Order: sequence, then C-alpha cells, then structure tokens
Amino acid sequence: MTSAEQPPPIIEIDHVDKQYRSRRAEAVHALKDVSLSIRDGEFVSIVGPSGCGKSTLLKIVNGLEHHTGGVLRFHTDSEDPRQAMGMVFQQPLLLPWRTILDNVLLPRDLRGRAGRGADVERAKTLLRTLRLGDFMDRHPKELSGGMQQRVGIARALMHDPPILLMDEPFGALDAMTRDQMSLELLQIWERDRKTVLFVTHSISEAVLLSDRVVVMSSRPGRIVSVVDVGLPRPRRLSDINTEQFGAYVKEIRTTLDSQHELATT
Ligand code: ADP
Repeated sequence: MTSAEQPPPIIEIDHVDKQYRSRRAEAVHALKDVSLSIRDGEFVSIVGPSGCGKSTLLKIVNGLEHHTGGVLRFHTDSEDPRQAMGMVFQQPLLLPWRTILDNVLLPRDLRGRAGRGADVERAKTLLRTLRLGDFMDRHPKELSGGMQQRVGIARALMHDPPILLMDEPFGALDAMTRDQMSLELLQIWERDRKTVLFVTHSISEAVLLSDRVVVMSSRPGRIVSVVDVGLPRPRRLSDINTEQFGAYVKEIRTTLDSQHELATT
C-alpha cells in the first residue's frame, strides 16, 4: 500500500507532555514530547519499561487523565470522541453481585439508556462469540481469570466502539491462556477491524498482534522507535517460530535494552 492509499489517522497524538503534580510530592514527568498518528483500523502496541508512562498515555487518550502539553486530535464520526472508545484494563473490575450478562450491561444501565431488550440481545451475542454463552447467568467468582477478562472485553465492545484501548489486558493471565486470548483478539480484530491501541509487557505478544510496535524509553517516556511489523495476516501462533518473527522481537528487545543501558550509565 502506498502512503497515498493509507487509511486516514483516527487518533493524532501531537507533542504530548504529561507532568503529574501534587502539593505534597515532587512533580513526576511521565511523558515527554510524544507524537504518534494512529490510522483507522490499525493495531498499534506500546512496549516499554515499567513506569515509562504507557498507562498514562492510554488514560490521556481516553480522557481519564489530562495532558499538560501538546494536542490530541480525534477523527471519528462521534460528536464525543471518547464515546467512540472502549477500554479494557488489566483487571476486568466486575461487580461480584451482578451476573455475567448484567456486568456486560452495566455501562448502558449506568447511562440509563432506553431499549434494554435490544442491548440484552447484543450482550448475549457478544458473550457467545467470546465462548461465554453457557456462563451468562453465573457470577464472576465462578469464572476463571481468562473468562473474566473475556467478560471485560465483551463489556468494552458493547457499544461497538471503533477504537479499543487495552492496558495490559492479558498481563494477569498464565502463558497458555494469554496465547489463547491473543488469538481471540486477533480474530475479533480481523473481523471488525477496530482501531486498537494495546499496552503490553510482552514483546512477542506485541509482534504477533500489531501492525506497528511503539517502543518507549524509561521515564520521562518518549517514543524511541516505531517498528512496522510486516508479517502477513491472518496471523497464527505458529508464526512465533518463524525467522522473520524472531527478527522483529530481536530488533525491539535491542532497542529496549539500549534504553536500559542509557538509563543505568
Ligand atoms: P507504565 O504504565 O508504563 O508502567 P504509568 O503510566 O503507570 O507507567 O506511570 C508513569 C509514571 O507516572 C510512574 O512514575 C508513575 O509512578 C507516575 N504516575 C502514574 N500515575 C500517577 C498519579 N496519578 N500521580 C502521580 N504520579 C503518577
């Protein structure tokens, strides 16, 4: 695809800066001069050392935090761009007294939306797609960690947001469940082509899923490299064993390691 044929950007992060200030503690410079354009339908992952501002960046995009410098631009049909986003956290934060179905319906219930019947049908369809059809009437404690995380994904997809922000969504899962969840996310993405901004600690997860991997420096977080992942799609777990895959992982790891060395010398 030539640059003239590239889909337009849906999110533009333009020289964004973030300082956390508090009266009692010293200011924390979390993000420094971060610029990134994310195209419609693109899957972009962010990797970087712990504390480099990855979650902060996602929260700024989502409006949960304010940036202290720079500009954010959204190009969506929605009047309120934040309505065009679904957010998935590391912990799905389910209400223990609500059934799985009612947890997925929680955001619409909180908004007091009319027409619950149609939303119930949509929630059931989503839960079936995420292989939770037999668990709709159960409560969170009856589900495994992976299943609970799938409930969190169903909840984020409920209002069919064109943009999905995911903050280490599989970080608390064991390795096998994590691989399974990555595959399911790939299938959803390949079917719906949502724009995904995905934070992870796992370089191979980032390479497997993404069109581009953004590598950040330690705090204050800056973008030090953006790697285009040219692996063909649809992708499979077995791609991990290919030489090309290994080369991408190595490139990203080398960039991360050089940042670590810079920070410790
Ligand atoms: P990451 O997701 O890469 O681990 P975070 O975005 O969570 O990093 O944090 C970046 C830096 O900002 C860290 O040093 C963290 O301690 C600090 N930080 C995060 N949230 C706050 C906050 N609400 N107030 C003050 N400092 C914060």
